[in-house]
Amino acid sequence: MTTSATPERLLPALPAHAAIHAHPERDRTAEAPALLAAGLVAHVGFVDDGRPVVIPMTYHYAANEPRRLYLHGGVNGRLMRHLASGAPVCVGVTELDDLVYSRTALNHSVNYRSVVAYGRATAVQPGLPERERVLTAMIARYFPGRIPGRDYAPAPSAQLAATALVALDIEEWSAKVRTGGPNGPGDLDPLLPGTAGVVPVGRGPGREPAAAPRGGGWLPGTRELGTPGGPSVAWCGVRW
Ligand SMILES: Cc1cc2nc3c(=O)[nH]c(=O)nc-3n(C[C@H](O)[C@H](O)[C@H](O)COP(=O)(O)OP(=O)(O)OC[C@H]3O[C@@H](n4cnc5c(N)ncnc54)[C@H](O)[C@@H]3O)c2cc1C
Repeated sequence: MTTSATPERLLPALPAHAAIHAHPERDRTAEAPALLAAGLVAHVGFVDDGRPVVIPMTYHYAANEPRRLYLHGGVNGRLMRHLASGAPVCVGVTELDDLVYSRTALNHSVNYRSVVAYGRATAVQPGLPERERVLTAMIARYFPGRIPGRDYAPAPSAQLAATALVALDIEEWSAKVRTGGPNGPGDLDPLLPGTAGVVPVGRGPGREPAAAPRGGGWLPGTRELGTPGGPSVAWCGVRW
């Protein structure tokens, strides 16, 4: 089975394993690029030594390379070695927006925006200008407004050499979005027994983080080092 192609899909019609069968009305595959550009955590799934494994990671994604997602990590870990081998990979990116409660058990739900992408990764070799460009752009994606040389020291070549970067070429993707309130019978009737409603929990539409004023402060409430309630040096020094 395939879903209809649109100019926005950017990829061929989906094969059966990637097409959305459950709740097809929630198919937002055309929005996959925007969802990947907004997401923060990629759950990266692959088969290692015959065993499925899913590892949470940060990632880089930019609209000018809509079929490519970048992942980085230490050069010596099994994760990056495995990804760079060109093995098949499945990546999930999810934004959880709301908890949805209903007058009926079955109709409790969540509002979400998510993408599932399939592809294979290849190493971005040391020395290629793409490596530094992508790693710098990745920091800017997570911390808009932070500028190398002003807000932080650029990575010296030894640190760049210790960082593996892979480019995941996306072969298929799907995107799915649930919005709105509970769909149970009587959920709209306040005179019926029980309660129904929506609890915002995420960065849903209208709840996007504030833009960074000068490289510091990102989510509302973020504190920089040296400000009251700010993180300790040790916290800031945590590395993967
Ligand atoms: C939100 C988030 C973002 C991250 N971003 C990155 C990133 O961009 N790059 C990066 O290299 N690492 C990142 N990490 C750490 C990453 O999840 C792995 O812990 C790390 O990459 C080592 O993976 P590995 O498979 O090589 O480790 P190994 O130590 O070889 O993994 C062995 C086993 O340990 C368990 N394990 C590994 N990682 C985790 C985990 N995070 N939570 C629970 N169990 C685990 C699994 O069972 C795994 O099979 C991130 C973690 C989180 C939570």
